[in-house]
Amino acid sequence: MDLRALLGLKPLDDVRSALFVQPHPDDNEVGAGGTIAKLAVSGCRVVTVTVTDGRCGATGPIDPNQLARRRQQELEAACEMLGVREHIEFGFEDLGAYTEEDVVEKLVPVLLDIRPEVVVTVDPWTPYEAHPDHVKTGRAVAQCAIRLASLAVPQHPPAYVPLMFAFYASAYANTAVDVTEHWDIKLRAIEAHASQFATPEWPALKAFFEYQSRQAAVQFLGASGDGRLVETFKVLSPRQLHFFPDAISS
Ligand SMILES: [Zn+2]
Repeated sequence: MDLRALLGLKPLDDVRSALFVQPHPDDNEVGAGGTIAKLAVSGCRVVTVTVTDGRCGATGPIDPNQLARRRQQELEAACEMLGVREHIEFGFEDLGAYTEEDVVEKLVPVLLDIRPEVVVTVDPWTPYEAHPDHVKTGRAVAQCAIRLASLAVPQHPPAYVPLMFAFYASAYANTAVDVTEHWDIKLRAIEAHASQFATPEWPALKAFFEYQSRQAAVQFLGASGDGRLVETFKVLSPRQLHFFPDAISS
């Protein structure tokens, strides 16, 4: 049975509107920068949301307010490189005491306004994911599927619920997007976050990203993936986000 067709899932690089929700200013670029660039070039409406201000993304004697300001500038530069013209910042404090519900409360009006076909975010269920901002953000996005499909969010019928959800940095990826032609721009957008990546480790990390991507291309695309670069996602329909144990293996 073709469960994906049954659930109405489209190819991820064939949507006309997409919302990318990231916990910190650089997560979208690392997880999905190539896909963002590919969609933006195709004429898809791409909107990004950044949940926190990234003020804790360093060690050492740096003023958190100053770091937050710097990261906002880096974020704006990265968005421009990827062709993102609409960007929203929620402004929660990085590693702050905000809750998953606080994020849901801000996300629901954004979703109802933009009505994206797909919402993309970090996978909060990836084993060993310990960062609270990633867990809260990913779960808040998923919770929006439940809220929008209920009377908790009053809507005139037919109620809007995103067609699908896609999670990057997932240990259970089921989809690959070929981003070979957008790999360089993805790397440049990551490098725009100099506060995070202008480090001695960056060349090795960059090589690892490429190795990982080439491996995934062969895994997902078979022989035709040889030499290609992909980003991988766990794509699920809203139905699979509740009472659906098979979602993990779909
Ligand atoms: Zn992050």
